[in-house]
Amino acid sequence: MMTYTASHLTYLLLCHRKLWLHHRQIRMEDNSVDVAAGKLLDRATYQRRAKKWSQLVCDTLKIDHFDPLAKVVKETKKSPKLEHAHVAQLKYYLYALERRGVAGATGLLEYPAQRRTLEVALTEADRSVTIPGWEAEIARIVGLDECPPLVKKSYCGECAFHDFCFV
Ligand code: SF4
Repeated sequence: MMTYTASHLTYLLLCHRKLWLHHRQIRMEDNSVDVAAGKLLDRATYQRRAKKWSQLVCDTLKIDHFDPLAKVVKETKKSPKLEHAHVAQLKYYLYALERRGVAGATGLLEYPAQRRTLEVALTEADRSVTIPGWEAEIARIVGLDECPPLVKKSYCGECAFHDFCFV
Protein backbone atom coordinates (compact mmCIF):
# COMPACT_ATOMS: atom_id res chain seq x y z
CA MET A 1 0.00 0.00 0.00
CA MET A 2 1.30 3.43 -0.96
CA THR A 3 1.96 5.89 1.88
CA TYR A 4 0.16 9.19 1.52
CA THR A 5 0.81 12.51 3.21
CA ALA A 6 -1.21 14.02 6.05
CA SER A 7 -2.56 16.52 3.51
CA HIS A 8 -4.03 13.66 1.47
CA LEU A 9 -5.81 12.45 4.57
CA THR A 10 -7.09 15.89 5.58
CA TYR A 11 -8.47 16.50 2.10
CA LEU A 12 -10.07 13.04 2.05
CA LEU A 13 -12.05 14.07 5.12
CA LEU A 14 -12.81 17.61 3.92
CA CYS A 15 -13.22 17.55 0.15
CA HIS A 16 -12.61 14.81 -2.44
CA ARG A 17 -12.23 17.41 -5.17
CA LYS A 18 -9.43 19.12 -3.24
CA LEU A 19 -7.77 15.74 -2.66
CA TRP A 20 -7.83 14.94 -6.38
CA LEU A 21 -6.38 18.37 -7.31
CA HIS A 22 -3.72 18.22 -4.58
CA HIS A 23 -2.57 14.75 -5.67
CA ARG A 24 -1.96 16.11 -9.18
CA GLN A 25 0.31 18.81 -7.74
CA ILE A 26 -2.19 21.50 -8.63
CA ARG A 27 -1.55 24.25 -6.09
CA MET A 28 -3.11 27.63 -5.49
CA GLU A 29 -1.73 30.16 -3.04
CA ASP A 30 -3.83 30.17 0.11
CA ASN A 31 -4.05 33.69 1.45
CA SER A 32 -7.14 33.20 3.54
CA VAL A 33 -7.34 34.94 6.90
CA ASP A 34 -7.66 31.57 8.63
CA VAL A 35 -4.46 30.23 7.13
CA ALA A 36 -2.55 33.43 7.91
CA ALA A 37 -3.82 33.39 11.49
CA GLY A 38 -2.99 29.73 11.81
CA LYS A 39 0.58 30.29 10.63
CA LEU A 40 1.00 33.21 13.01
CA LEU A 41 -0.39 31.24 15.92
CA ASP A 42 1.80 28.29 15.03
CA ARG A 43 4.91 30.48 14.91
CA ALA A 44 4.09 32.16 18.22
CA THR A 45 3.59 28.82 19.95
CA TYR A 46 6.69 27.41 18.33
CA GLN A 47 8.85 30.30 19.49
CA ARG A 48 7.70 29.88 23.07
CA ARG A 49 8.62 26.21 22.99
CA ALA A 50 11.40 26.25 20.43
CA LYS A 51 13.78 24.17 22.54
CA LYS A 52 11.39 21.29 23.00
CA TRP A 53 9.93 20.93 19.52
CA SER A 54 11.82 20.01 16.38
CA GLN A 55 10.75 19.67 12.80
CA LEU A 56 10.93 16.11 11.54
CA VAL A 57 11.28 15.46 7.81
CA CYS A 58 11.59 11.88 6.55
CA ASP A 59 10.81 11.22 2.85
CA THR A 60 7.06 12.05 2.46
CA LEU A 61 6.58 12.58 6.20
CA LYS A 62 6.90 16.14 7.48
CA ILE A 63 5.98 16.93 11.09
CA ASP A 64 6.38 20.54 12.19
CA HIS A 65 6.45 19.94 15.95
CA PHE A 66 7.97 16.72 17.26
CA ASP A 67 9.48 16.16 20.68
CA PRO A 68 11.98 13.33 20.03
CA LEU A 69 12.61 12.65 23.73
CA ALA A 70 8.99 12.23 24.80
CA LYS A 71 7.96 11.04 21.29
CA VAL A 72 5.10 13.53 21.09
CA VAL A 73 3.69 15.09 17.92
CA LYS A 74 1.96 18.43 18.41
CA GLU A 75 -0.53 20.22 16.21
CA THR A 76 -1.82 23.69 17.05
CA LYS A 77 -5.09 24.77 15.47
CA LYS A 78 -7.00 28.00 15.50
CA SER A 79 -10.46 26.50 15.88
CA PRO A 80 -11.95 23.08 16.73
CA LYS A 81 -14.47 23.47 13.90
CA LEU A 82 -12.83 20.58 11.99
CA GLU A 83 -11.68 18.64 15.04
CA HIS A 84 -12.36 15.22 13.48
CA ALA A 85 -9.90 16.06 10.69
CA HIS A 86 -7.32 17.40 13.16
CA VAL A 87 -7.49 14.19 15.22
CA ALA A 88 -7.24 12.08 12.06
CA GLN A 89 -4.19 14.06 10.90
CA LEU A 90 -2.42 13.39 14.20
CA LYS A 91 -3.31 9.69 14.07
CA TYR A 92 -1.91 9.51 10.57
CA TYR A 93 1.35 11.08 11.78
CA LEU A 94 1.56 8.49 14.57
CA TYR A 95 0.87 5.71 12.09
CA ALA A 96 3.50 7.07 9.68
CA LEU A 97 6.04 7.18 12.52
CA GLU A 98 5.29 3.56 13.43
CA ARG A 99 5.82 2.54 9.83
CA ARG A 100 9.24 4.14 10.04
CA GLY A 101 10.16 2.32 13.26
CA VAL A 102 9.15 4.97 15.83
CA ALA A 103 6.67 3.10 18.01
CA GLY A 104 4.75 4.43 21.00
CA ALA A 105 4.50 8.08 19.92
CA THR A 106 1.46 10.08 21.05
CA GLY A 107 -0.24 13.22 19.79
CA LEU A 108 -1.13 16.54 21.36
CA LEU A 109 -3.80 18.70 19.77
CA GLU A 110 -3.88 22.28 21.00
CA TYR A 111 -6.54 24.96 20.55
CA PRO A 112 -4.92 27.93 22.33
CA ALA A 113 -7.79 30.33 21.63
CA GLN A 114 -10.19 27.93 23.35
CA ARG A 115 -7.60 26.91 25.99
CA ARG A 116 -8.18 23.28 25.09
CA THR A 117 -5.72 20.43 24.71
CA LEU A 118 -6.49 16.88 23.60
CA GLU A 119 -4.28 13.83 23.76
CA VAL A 120 -4.43 11.57 20.73
CA ALA A 121 -3.29 7.96 20.62
CA LEU A 122 -3.30 5.27 17.97
CA THR A 123 -5.59 2.30 18.67
CA GLU A 124 -5.51 -1.23 17.27
CA ALA A 125 -8.67 -0.43 15.32
CA ASP A 126 -6.92 2.60 13.78
CA ARG A 127 -4.02 0.40 12.66
CA SER A 128 -6.02 -2.50 11.32
CA VAL A 129 -9.25 -0.95 10.02
CA THR A 130 -9.58 2.84 10.04
CA ILE A 131 -6.28 3.93 8.50
CA PRO A 132 -6.10 1.16 5.85
CA GLY A 133 -9.68 2.17 4.99
CA TRP A 134 -8.63 5.82 4.60
CA GLU A 135 -5.73 4.83 2.37
CA ALA A 136 -7.91 2.63 0.17
CA GLU A 137 -10.38 5.50 -0.24
CA ILE A 138 -7.59 7.97 -1.05
CA ALA A 139 -6.27 5.55 -3.69
CA ARG A 140 -9.74 5.24 -5.22
CA ILE A 141 -10.29 9.01 -5.39
CA VAL A 142 -6.86 10.03 -6.71
CA GLY A 143 -7.18 7.27 -9.32
CA LEU A 144 -10.36 8.76 -10.79
CA ASP A 145 -9.93 9.94 -14.38
CA GLU A 146 -11.93 13.09 -13.76
CA CYS A 147 -11.96 15.64 -10.97
CA PRO A 148 -14.77 14.82 -8.51
CA PRO A 149 -17.83 17.07 -8.98
CA LEU A 150 -18.20 20.30 -7.07
CA VAL A 151 -20.10 19.88 -3.81
CA LYS A 152 -20.35 23.17 -1.95
CA LYS A 153 -19.23 23.12 1.68
CA SER A 154 -19.35 25.61 4.53
CA TYR A 155 -15.57 26.15 4.30
CA CYS A 156 -15.30 26.63 0.51
CA GLY A 157 -14.87 30.38 1.09
CA GLU A 158 -11.66 29.69 3.04
CA CYS A 159 -10.26 27.18 0.52
CA ALA A 160 -7.32 27.99 -1.77
CA PHE A 161 -9.27 26.46 -4.68
CA HIS A 162 -12.29 28.72 -4.17
CA ASP A 163 -11.71 30.75 -7.34
CA PHE A 164 -10.96 27.59 -9.31
CA CYS A 165 -14.23 25.99 -8.19
CA PHE A 166 -16.57 28.98 -8.25
CA VAL A 167 -15.46 31.32 -11.04
S1 SF4 B 1 -13.57 25.34 -2.92
FE1 SF4 B 1 -14.86 23.82 -1.86
S2 SF4 B 1 -15.35 22.29 -3.45
FE2 SF4 B 1 -13.60 23.49 -4.19
S3 SF4 B 1 -11.79 22.33 -3.60
FE3 SF4 B 1 -12.18 23.83 -1.97
S4 SF4 B 1 -13.46 22.80 -0.45
FE4 SF4 B 1 -13.52 21.58 -2.35
